[in-house]
Amino acid sequence: MTSTVMKFGGTSVEDVTAIRNAAGIIKLAVNSRPVVVVSALGGFTNSLLRSVEMAIDGDARGASKSLETEFARHLAIAEELLLNNERRAAFVSAVGDARSKIRQLHKIIAAHPVTSPPLQDEIVAYGEHLSSQLVTAALTEAGVNARHVDARSCIKTDDVYGAATPQPETAGAISAEIEPLLTAAKVPVLGGFIGSTARGVTTTLGRGGSDYSAAIVGAALNAREIQIWTDVSGVLTADPRIVPNARTIPILSYQEAAELAYFGAKVLHPKTIQPAIDKSIPVRVCNSRAPRQGGTLIVAESRAAPQTVKAIAHKNGITTVQVTSARMLGAYGFLRKLFEVFDDHRVAVDVVTTSEVSVSLSIDDTSGLENLLPDLEELGMVQIEENRTIISVVGEGLRSTPGIAARVFSVIDDINVTMISVGASSVNLTCMVDEARAAEAITRLHRVCFEEEERKPVSADLTVLA
Ligand code: ADP
Ligand code: ASP
Ligand code: MG
Repeated sequence: MTSTVMKFGGTSVEDVTAIRNAAGIIKLAVNSRPVVVVSALGGFTNSLLRSVEMAIDGDARGASKSLETEFARHLAIAEELLLNNERRAAFVSAVGDARSKIRQLHKIIAAHPVTSPPLQDEIVAYGEHLSSQLVTAALTEAGVNARHVDARSCIKTDDVYGAATPQPETAGAISAEIEPLLTAAKVPVLGGFIGSTARGVTTTLGRGGSDYSAAIVGAALNAREIQIWTDVSGVLTADPRIVPNARTIPILSYQEAAELAYFGAKVLHPKTIQPAIDKSIPVRVCNSRAPRQGGTLIVAESRAAPQTVKAIAHKNGITTVQVTSARMLGAYGFLRKLFEVFDDHRVAVDVVTTSEVSVSLSIDDTSGLENLLPDLEELGMVQIEENRTIISVVGEGLRSTPGIAARVFSVIDDINVTMISVGASSVNLTCMVDEARAAEAITRLHRVCFEEEERKPVSADLTVLA
């Protein structure tokens, strides 16, 4: 029995209009056996995380008070959306429970900040816990036979709080929980982003992780399609906040989508694609505000317009580390030692470039950097540069387009570009620029890759760069 996973992000459930829209989209799809995954109401996760910071700083009262407007917002939405008294009362009571539980947790954190990692996840999970109950009630109100499922009973993870990884037993738990509901023609609704350890302690999968939850559910159920409903019309040729005239990419390969997500296209969580690849499930990204506008379909390479460059992604706040050592010259074992240092300190590296006597590496999360530096300095002279931006031009067409690097870089030749890396993935051309000049570089790259050929019929064919 095939199902369709439909994930709605924070802006797609942020207010009454958004939730009504989402319910309308789900209702229309009811024959394709939807399984609904929802994010917290837009902005609520940020507020919950800020409240935890306040509690860690010792201000439990302030932390709890800071969430009052958010609870009021949930209640106001329920007031307008849930006309059935019993249903409304049940949700009002869930909000009340969340408020008092969170207040207790704030007090514990303020008194013992070391306990914060699991308690932070416990608090933050209320975002998705409440939104999934609200959407279930709204669907019921709209005449859909919806059932709430607590994601914590089926997404089973390790205990890395804030960035937990689902464990193999998750697939079985999802099937056991959800398939009987589908058989009974019910529409299961679960919160994304949240899970629990084998011992039942709440965990979260990392910011933006509801996309990942949707993919995990889709893979476990062998879904027909995983749909990501968001606030833009699919994956665009660049971040629309930087390039307002970025346009929808109709079709992408899994590898292209994975690279774009990994290198900063926020529209998809980077871990979303792997579960889809594992089960060959198409992923569709659509606009919940304009459901009829075509979105992006992400499928295996063979079906995905191979001859073209598809998009430009970027990621700000990158730090680069350069290690220079004459000992590298003609020596073996140096790179192994270097990477062992990063391994030992569990610091993830994104891009690596090497020259004869130096290696440059880029890192996103610098929390482990301070401890790592002394070990690195034993290997050579270390230089750190902060506030860099990784820019990636992505497309299967990079494989088949000779001279592409020279043509792309010629349009940003007055901007200092470092760590150029071409061909490692063969669908990705990556470089590093200063954050202050990133928007300018992206705008120019977008123009040369996607706008100058607008007058021509062939979409994004890089030969136009010649
Ligand atoms: P949701 O809450 O639905 O998960 P997100 O905010 O996580 O939505 O992701 C959608 C946002 O991603 C868009 O509003 C857009 O600003 C941003 N974005 C960045 N790069 C891209 C891109 N290449 N294509 C589409 N959106 C992008
Ligand atoms: N609500 C979570 C976040 O804001 C997860 C998600 O929206 O995907 O990060
Ligand atoms: Mg998101």
